[in-house]
Amino acid sequence: MSHRVLVLTAHPDDAEFFAGGTLAKMIGAGAEVSVLIATNGDTGSFELDRARLAEVRRMEALRAGGVLGVREVAFLDYHNGELDQLAPGRLRGQFMRAIRERKPDAVFTFDPFAPFEGHPDHRAVAFAALEAANFSSFPLHYPEQLADGLETHLVAEKYFFGKYPMHANKAVDISDTIEKKVAALLEHESQVAFLFQAWMQQAALAGVDVDNIPPGGAAEGERPAQGMAWIVREQARADGAAVGLEFAEQFRYVRFSKMIETVLEARRSMTNDK
Ligand SMILES: [Zn+2]
Repeated sequence: MSHRVLVLTAHPDDAEFFAGGTLAKMIGAGAEVSVLIATNGDTGSFELDRARLAEVRRMEALRAGGVLGVREVAFLDYHNGELDQLAPGRLRGQFMRAIRERKPDAVFTFDPFAPFEGHPDHRAVAFAALEAANFSSFPLHYPEQLADGLETHLVAEKYFFGKYPMHANKAVDISDTIEKKVAALLEHESQVAFLFQAWMQQAALAGVDVDNIPPGGAAEGERPAQGMAWIVREQARADGAAVGLEFAEQFRYVRFSKMIETVLEARRSMTNDK
């Protein structure tokens, strides 16, 4: 189990959506988790203006982090939807600085190689974070950070998540922490009604009987929160069912480079031959 974990994400609710149950579980086992959010989330509303929304979402992210028990929630404060417009290498450098400062054993982030990712911020974070984690141990990458007194750092484990995970090879049993994940997500109050409405529009187009979500109904004011909670549980239940667990989150987990894996495998088979 990792001791120090850094989550590199795009939006104030990404960590909870994609890894909230796993992070809560790791924290329960003693891990120190930091979350670094690249944008301020200032386009995720049908109602609030951007400046107000950014303020609201910052507070929501802090509260959600509190529910999970994360040690630190930090922000780079870029505008939502604009990470693809940054100078090349800028976000990678900021993520590398965060890694060199916090020295995580494990990094969680979006999978740059998961398909069908339509959000430019998710794609930008995915590549910048992968590259930062791959090169933070090399002193000639962003050497000005070492001149600032930071040290190189080797990230031993990477957990990649995505809306459509490809090559998922690690399912984490979150049966004990699914309700923490749900509770943390519901702290993102500005997103609950917004996302539920957006999801129901899609479901209605797909011919789903949206009046029956959540099943059994909900009191009028409670419907978005209970509907979102139901959707989040069903997603985790489906991910769990695929691997014989009640609730799970799935990741593409990378520990060693392919070359080192090959060496380890060769050593194992040599041992077996004896
Ligand atoms: Zn996002």
